[in-house]
Amino acid sequence: MTKKIEVDFELCEANGVCMGILPEVFELDDEDFLHVLSDEVTPENEAKVREAVRQCPRQAISIRE
Ligand code: SF4
Repeated sequence: MTKKIEVDFELCEANGVCMGILPEVFELDDEDFLHVLSDEVTPENEAKVREAVRQCPRQAISIRE
C-alpha cells in the first residue's frame, strides 16, 4: 500500500519549515495557506518527508501507512 502525507491544517501555522525541506511537495500560497502538491510518499522523497515530519514545529505532518 502506498504511504500518504497528511497535514493537520488545524495545527499548521504556515511557517514554511516543510516547504524549505521539500518544496516539490509543500507549498505556501500568497495567503499563507499550505498546499500539499503531491501526497504520495515515494522512495525518492521519503527521507525528506520524514525530516519534514520531524522538523514541523507544530507536529502537523504525518505519514499514513
Ligand atoms: S512545517 Fe508544519 S506548521 Fe510549518 S507550514 Fe509545514 S505543516 Fe505547517
